[in-house]
Formats: sequence, structure tokens, C-alpha cells
Amino acid sequence: MRKQIVAGNWKMNNDYVDSEILVSKLLVQHKHSNTEVIIAPPFTNLLASINALKGSSIKVAAQNMHFAESGAYTGEVSAAMLKSIGVETVILGHSERRAYFNESDDLLAKKVDTALAHEMRIIFCFGEELKDRKSGNENSVVESQIKKALFHLPEADWSQIVLAYEPVWAIGTGETATPDQAQDMHAFIRKTLANAYVQSLADSVSILYGGSVKSSNAKEIFSKTDVDGGLIGGAALDAEHFTAIVNAF
Ligand code: PEP
Repeated sequence: MRKQIVAGNWKMNNDYVDSEILVSKLLVQHKHSNTEVIIAPPFTNLLASINALKGSSIKVAAQNMHFAESGAYTGEVSAAMLKSIGVETVILGHSERRAYFNESDDLLAKKVDTALAHEMRIIFCFGEELKDRKSGNENSVVESQIKKALFHLPEADWSQIVLAYEPVWAIGTGETATPDQAQDMHAFIRKTLANAYVQSLADSVSILYGGSVKSSNAKEIFSKTDVDGGLIGGAALDAEHFTAIVNAF
């Protein structure tokens, strides 16, 4: 059975104190369930979050990492550094990284390989822009993104991959893909995986939806057969909203 996952991407929000407060609220509200809960605070708050969440089932992910092992990459953080503080999961390919930091499919393929070499789990984000959807090219764009960054991987590596379909036009805009649009794309992604590998692999990979998920729309989106959870931005900054989204399963 596929894992149900709700992950909160805090982006560049919350200083150290804000982060401690949000984590402590999440701890109070969190009830252990079949849904895996992950938070992705900024780098400066990762270690404190990990320490505060010891003994809880809430996990901590990083929002990014560099592909190199170490060296002259001022301002960057490596997989080994993340692992050394207990971070086991990393978000890669977020549309904000692609758009503002020019992260290409080729660069992301390198990051994927490095994360896997360090036995990290990856939440891999991708999704079409509004112009792609308007021109009816959303499937080909998505297929190309996952192919270029992930389809060189051997089957065994897919146990470490979680996919996050995030249509760019729905991120932080308040505009959500309809549950049917999400389902159609997730089913297409699963079919693409089955064609490239085997059906059993496609059936085992969790595919999250991201893009303006809120406590008010989560239940309907999560009810779709191929939607295995959500990657949450804005609503992850509020403990009550985030917990309500987790409980929407
Ligand atoms: C995101 O940034 O991954 C995201 C889904 O953001 P939001 O929920 O705010 O649209």
C-alpha cells in the first residue's frame, strides 16, 4: 500500500523563535495516524526542529541541498551536512528553485543522484506553468520533467522517491487545481511510471498534490484515488490549518 503523506514547506518563513513556537503547537495538536507528517523548515531551524520532535512521529525535511559533496560553493548545504544533523528527507525541484535559482532538469538529476548516494529520501516537485496548461501541454511538460530528472534511476531507488505534482499556477495563488484535474494528472504520472518501469513500481510511489491546499479543500483532493497526500505551503505555517489538512485523510 502507498504511504499517505502530508508535508509542510515553510519556505523562507519563521525565524528560530517562530519555528520553536510552531513546532510546539504542532506537537500538541498532532495525533499519531497512518498519515506520515513532515515539516520542512529553513536550514537554520532544522536541528532545533529535529530535537524538539524527538519521540514524535513528525519528521523533518530540508527544502534544498547542493549536488556536490563539499567544496567551494559559498552559501550552499550538502547532503552529508543534512545527514549529520539527522535530516533524512529533502525536497528537490520546487518550482521556486526552478524559477528563481535557474534549477534545470539536468541539475536536478545531479541533486537526485547525490541525495540517493546519501540514502536520503526525496520529495521531488514538478508541474506545468499556466501557459502550458492553457496550450494543453501539461502532460508533456510533466512527463519531460520527471523523465529528465528521474528516469535514469534503477527500480530499486524508487523506494526513496516521493513525487509532488505542483502546477505552478496553483502555488501561493489561492487557485487550486480541481480534484479532477489533480486526479487526471496523478493518473497520467502513474501511467508514465508504469510505462517506463513496471506497474508494481508505479503503484508503490506516493504522489502528492501541491498548490493552495487548505483545510477547506484538502478532503476532496485527498479523496481522489491517485492522490496520496499533499505538499503544503502557506497553510503549513499555521498549526491548526496544517493539522486539519493532515486530519483530512
Ligand atoms: C508549495 O510551495 O509547495 C505550495 C504548495 O505552496 P501553497 O500551498 O502556498 O500554494
